[in-house]
Amino acid sequence: MTPSAIVTRFAPSPTGRLHVGNIRTALVNWLFARQNGGRFLLRLDDTDRQRSTEAYAQDIRSDLDWLGLRPDGEVRQSDRMALYDAAFERLRAAGRIYPAYETADELDIKRKVQLSRGLPPVYDRAALNLSEDDRAALEAEGRRPHWRFRLDTAAETGWTDQVRGPSHVDPASLSDPVVRREDGSYLYMLPSVVDDIDMGITHVVRGEDHVTNSGVQVQMFSALGAGAPAFAHLSLLTGAQGGKLSKRVGSMGVDELREQGFEAGAVTSFLARIGTSQPVVPVPDLNILAKDFDFSSFGRAAARFDPEELAHLNAKLVHMLPYDQVADRLPQGMNEAAWSVLRPNLNTVSDAADWWQVVTGPLTMAPQPAERDFLIAARDALNDLGWDDDIWKRWTADVKGRTGRKGKTLFQPLRLALTGREQGPDMSALLPLIGREAALQRLEEAAGPEGRSAA
Ligand code: GLU
Repeated sequence: MTPSAIVTRFAPSPTGRLHVGNIRTALVNWLFARQNGGRFLLRLDDTDRQRSTEAYAQDIRSDLDWLGLRPDGEVRQSDRMALYDAAFERLRAAGRIYPAYETADELDIKRKVQLSRGLPPVYDRAALNLSEDDRAALEAEGRRPHWRFRLDTAAETGWTDQVRGPSHVDPASLSDPVVRREDGSYLYMLPSVVDDIDMGITHVVRGEDHVTNSGVQVQMFSALGAGAPAFAHLSLLTGAQGGKLSKRVGSMGVDELREQGFEAGAVTSFLARIGTSQPVVPVPDLNILAKDFDFSSFGRAAARFDPEELAHLNAKLVHMLPYDQVADRLPQGMNEAAWSVLRPNLNTVSDAADWWQVVTGPLTMAPQPAERDFLIAARDALNDLGWDDDIWKRWTADVKGRTGRKGKTLFQPLRLALTGREQGPDMSALLPLIGREAALQRLEEAAGPEGRSAA
């Protein structure tokens, strides 16, 4: 196979927003396709007409778009019923699909009996023994069949997983899966195989919760006369402590991540690398992530999704972002120079607004009466000096000379007076942004009214 023939797909059901787990699946499919100059397709699994909505489909498209994972094509299963019907009829004619009439209650009783005897609760295939007359009698009672795919219990259902290595599912341990319901609607299993064949999917990349399905689907591909694609099953995400991902974190979607100030590049860097042997570092360019993508770096152990680690990575990424990538999200008037001064202090781009407020004022700050004399001396020193970009260095040297202070006792009251905060960006870069007049005024305000000095 030439690399350019690679085709992957991301197949969400439009019954909700994407969450971190399926964002990761989408990302890995995109990265692998992109790395190999292949195609990445979006398949909307909307056979569940009750729960699927166009609004969710639209959300999925815009979430992928925000992440930078634009598909090279899209299909929706609800448009493709004729294909499924044709495959269904072929398999039925070949004896691989058969009608069964048990009700849910009857199946439940069968399972309980099996379990009480210590047997695996596998469907006993009673329906295969029904005669033509038996079926006619059941239908005369008003029963409609559902349809099962007959697994070949002797057939090979192994594959070499791109992540898990040699993999195998024992078909004898599985019930023949129901592929179509009484009302004629299809369950997930068969349409997915029909689509994977029709769309020329070469690599099925999805969560490890689908491993058993892959065993079944390998048989469906072969029953339909097609070779199975390659499979890669990604380990599931766990919480920060290694336990199950909490509902809150597990349901985090693009909208929430975005609201919390996470950059798309941080989300993709993080999700591409957790659970792999590659370093979790900010890689703002998806094409670089794609270039370095490697299935063999994925471990079988669950990938830890720790929102705090993501926040940390996000801050590192923000510190790398060039001005032109954030300009439209910055407060009015904040220019490139200000961005580069403030950037190292931000956790999110939206934090820039707070610091810009510190630069432009007005500040609400409590005066420092105990420092009045010192701050007045500092103000006078500043007033006497010429203003340039080197002002902080010259000014603090001057204040040091006048007051004999040094170190923290010199710098801390000045920082607090000029910014209203105890910590923040490098003062030598910040002071020129604040400007001479505002600095003089802030020193004065911080000194407080005359006559109240404790010094
Ligand atoms: N709609 C299925 C899911 O979201 C697709 C599984 C697959 O990738 O085949 O679980």
